[in-house]
Amino acid sequence: MKEESKLIRTQTPRSSNREHSTPLYLTSSFIFDDAEQGRAIFADEQQGNIYSRYSNPNTTEFIDKVCELEGAEAGLAFSSGMAGVFASFAGLLKAGDHIVSFRSIFGSTHQLLTTLFPRWGITSTYVDAANPDDLEKAIQPNTKMIFLETPSNPGLELVDLAWLCKIKEKHPHIIINVDNCFATPYLQKPIAYGVDIVSHSATKYMDGQGRVLGGVVVGRADLIKEMMFFIRHTGPAMSAFNAWLLSKSLETLPLRMDRHCSNALAVAKALEKSAEVEVVRYPHLPSHPQYELAKKQMKQGGGIVTFVIKGGFERAKRFLDALEMILISSNLGDSRSIGTHPSSTTHSKLSEQERLQIGIFPGSIRLSIGLENVEDILADVKNALEKSK
Ligand SMILES: *Cc1c(COP(=O)(O)O)cnc(C)c1O
Repeated sequence: MKEESKLIRTQTPRSSNREHSTPLYLTSSFIFDDAEQGRAIFADEQQGNIYSRYSNPNTTEFIDKVCELEGAEAGLAFSSGMAGVFASFAGLLKAGDHIVSFRSIFGSTHQLLTTLFPRWGITSTYVDAANPDDLEKAIQPNTKMIFLETPSNPGLELVDLAWLCKIKEKHPHIIINVDNCFATPYLQKPIAYGVDIVSHSATKYMDGQGRVLGGVVVGRADLIKEMMFFIRHTGPAMSAFNAWLLSKSLETLPLRMDRHCSNALAVAKALEKSAEVEVVRYPHLPSHPQYELAKKQMKQGGGIVTFVIKGGFERAKRFLDALEMILISSNLGDSRSIGTHPSSTTHSKLSEQERLQIGIFPGSIRLSIGLENVEDILADVKNALEKSK
């Protein structure tokens, strides 16, 4: 079956009720047919659900679909994207280990690396996507993991995954961990290049309608097994309800992404023509510095457009306030288009210099382009550009 069909047809085995669509398994625990089965499942000699902190039919169905999409051997589901990202570090690393991360990463992931992990003796070094050759220099004897996001938030810088995975020829023991949230596995498949684990905030495009939080990490079976020990005993499991909802959302992921991408490309092109805009970043816009790579690595350009408005911070605020249909929020990947001012919200905890290093200016605006009719989105954006002059 093709990908779109698998996302619809991968399903929990039907119960004796002959339901067509997977039901919601609201049960904290599961029973054993006899004492021997209980022993065998606990001993890992037999597969089976024990307790919903470990697994549940709804989370299993959701994970199976993400594994199909990413081409992964195994996976785990989490209560939020950050719970997953945290487990992808904490479940695999120990005191004394070192992480090399590309600098443009999600704000909370930045806090993990710079504030929380040093408390537990796990250190990290940043490299800039603009100087990828620094990667080799940043690797230390105790480096256990390389972490990155591509495209990055909100600068939409790319890291060349084929180039990156060549590092394994020299450093085969280093785990490459990619947060693939912005692209989604429909547009980009890091594991095909040799990436070991992929994490996602399912809150974004996987849900796609701004309803529930969720996270998922998929990849090499041995690493997922190691992480399983961590999550069984720390409890960041996804709820059955969120898994049930997210699994159904994945049925429409390809359809939704096609529309997010075509709408976003139209908005990016319109912004590029406007005299009110200094620069537009969108991976599939020919003016993107890594356009060739974006064409090769991403099936389409994604749903996020970032631009710098002329007139800096005050103008950026006036622009957001002048939007009528599009609302201001820090979320992204919703069916509703969203406007965000990164430097005063999502990235306000960084210093001015740190922001400039990752391409966030006072006039930067991130648009998460939704599924509304593109004419309505374009009209709202153009009107706000005029009104904010
Ligand atoms: C939102 C986001 C996260 C965190 O996910 P939550 O579900 O909000 O915990 C991590 N990485 C990226 C790239 C994100 O956009």
